[in-house]
Amino acid sequence: MSALTEKVVSAYLQIFQSEPSYTILSPGRINIIGEHVDYNDGFVLPAAINKYVCFAIAESGSSSCTLVALDLDKTYAFDLTDEISPVADMWVNYILGVVAPIKKELKGFNLVFSSTIPMGSGLSSSAAVECGAAFALNTLFDLGLSKEQLAKLGQQAEHTFVGVKCGIMDQFASVFGKANQVIKLDCNTLTYDYFPADLGDYCLVLLDSKVKHTHLTSGYNTRREEVEAGLNIIKQAFPEVNTYRDCTMEHVESVKDRLGAIRYKRCSYVVKEIKRVGEAVQALASNNFEALGKLINATHEGLSADYEVSCDELDFLVAQAQNIPDVLGARMMGGGFGGCTINLLKKSAISKLEDEIQLAYKKRFGIDLEVYQVAISEGTHLYNRN
Ligand code: ADP
Ligand code: MG
Repeated sequence: MSALTEKVVSAYLQIFQSEPSYTILSPGRINIIGEHVDYNDGFVLPAAINKYVCFAIAESGSSSCTLVALDLDKTYAFDLTDEISPVADMWVNYILGVVAPIKKELKGFNLVFSSTIPMGSGLSSSAAVECGAAFALNTLFDLGLSKEQLAKLGQQAEHTFVGVKCGIMDQFASVFGKANQVIKLDCNTLTYDYFPADLGDYCLVLLDSKVKHTHLTSGYNTRREEVEAGLNIIKQAFPEVNTYRDCTMEHVESVKDRLGAIRYKRCSYVVKEIKRVGEAVQALASNNFEALGKLINATHEGLSADYEVSCDELDFLVAQAQNIPDVLGARMMGGGFGGCTINLLKKSAISKLEDEIQLAYKKRFGIDLEVYQVAISEGTHLYNRN
């Protein structure tokens, strides 16, 4: 048993004086490329990683339910005969939001969980909690929910109980992930394909900036308005355009004046990023990691200069990494204004990247950086303890 599963199972035993029926692992995720296009008619290229929330679950024998968050040292109890609505203690809502829509099909249960996914760093610990809880209940009560239903249940929990109007990528990646495969997901239709991502001598390293600037939500909402208004202007001029997927830079250039400087930048980013995802899939398919790295670098440039969702800390980490030979690509990952950068580099350059950037970041911002080397791994699954 891994240290994480060992910890969760022994805590369950100690708290409830009995064995859990099931142990579940639910992973965090990365996104190789395709940032801020999930709500702009684009494709994304996420993958599950080897950082997990681990759950131990069994029936309670009554209608009462107990949730134990070991990492927060918190317990929450409720009864299935009571009405279930959001509570003040935020972590509880990620699970209650999953329980509420399927309450009628459940009996009382006890759930203990702990995680190796850093919280709030953009690796989607929230989706891992939601989808892991959904998977655990689906298994324990034999609900017969499909993977897609589990992902949607997680997303719905985040919308209704947490209040974040997230896209489906995070939950989808957590549930559908496969070892050494990235998912090319069409966020409009939920159609998807797997692509092998055997990185050979290369690897993926995340640098956690440890900052989270507060304008994330407002920045996100403003971008959504800007790109929607931008697309409407393009559509007026070119009736053949329905979505950003139909747009080219020629379209954007020809309405540059009508868009104005800000919307022009936002639209340019979206159109270019959608194109880059297609090119990245080609690069992966032909093991052309240099080309993939260049695309990743171009995405950062676009996110920073045109989409303007980066920040000084992320720009610094990316610039430092790009200066190291054998780092093929570096960019901010996720919503922006903080969280992690993702870096594609030669395995032999890991310690150089780690040492140099840790020191430089500490000197510049006074912050201790966290470094995570990640492997592309299996999605939410039952852990076999035997
Ligand atoms: P991200 O999904 O990028 O990690 P979010 O802010 O969306 O960041 O979600 C983080 C929240 O999810 C935490 O503040 C907490 O409420 C909940 N959460 C995540 N992991 C755990 C955990 N191990 N134990 C309890 N709650 C967790
Ligand atoms: Mg989240």
